[in-house]
Amino acid sequence: MSDTELTEVSGACLCGKVTFAASVETGLGACHCGMCRQWSAGPFMSVNAVGPVTLTGKENIGRYSSSDWAERGFCNQCGSNLFYRLLPRKGLPDGQYIFSAGAVSDQSKFQFDHEVFVDHAPHWYRFADEAERKRMTEAELLKQFE
Ligand SMILES: [Zn+2]
Ligand SMILES: [Zn+2]
Repeated sequence: MSDTELTEVSGACLCGKVTFAASVETGLGACHCGMCRQWSAGPFMSVNAVGPVTLTGKENIGRYSSSDWAERGFCNQCGSNLFYRLLPRKGLPDGQYIFSAGAVSDQSKFQFDHEVFVDHAPHWYRFADEAERKRMTEAELLKQFE
C-alpha cells in the first residue's frame, strides 16, 4: 500500500521441499473472501512480492487455477499454502506473487496495514485496532483494477 517499504525475504513450506525468495512489501494484508477462508480456514495473511521471485522445489508446487485471473500455489507434499498469484495480463505483464506471510522465515519487519473483502468476513472473528488499517470492501478493491 501507500507508504510501504520493501524487504528481502525467504520462506518455505512446512516440509521444506519448496522454498522461495523475493523482495516484498512490508505492509501485510488480510483477505476475508470466502475462497481464502475455504483455502486456509481463516483470512489469508499475505505480503506482495515486487519484481522477480525465486522458487525452488518447483516439482513439489501444486497450482490451482482459482479464477480467470489468479492461481493458488501450495506444497503438494505437506499441503502448506504458499502463494496467491495474479496471472500476467494487460497492465501487469509479469503477473504478481502474493506470498503467505506465515511461510516467510523472518516476519519481524511486517506491519499489518490493510484488509480486503471486509464485507465478506464471517461473524465469528474480528481483528482489533481496525482504525489503524486501510479496509476495503470487494467493490472498493475491484475498482482499483478497473
Ligand atoms: Zn512442503
Ligand atoms: Zn481472498
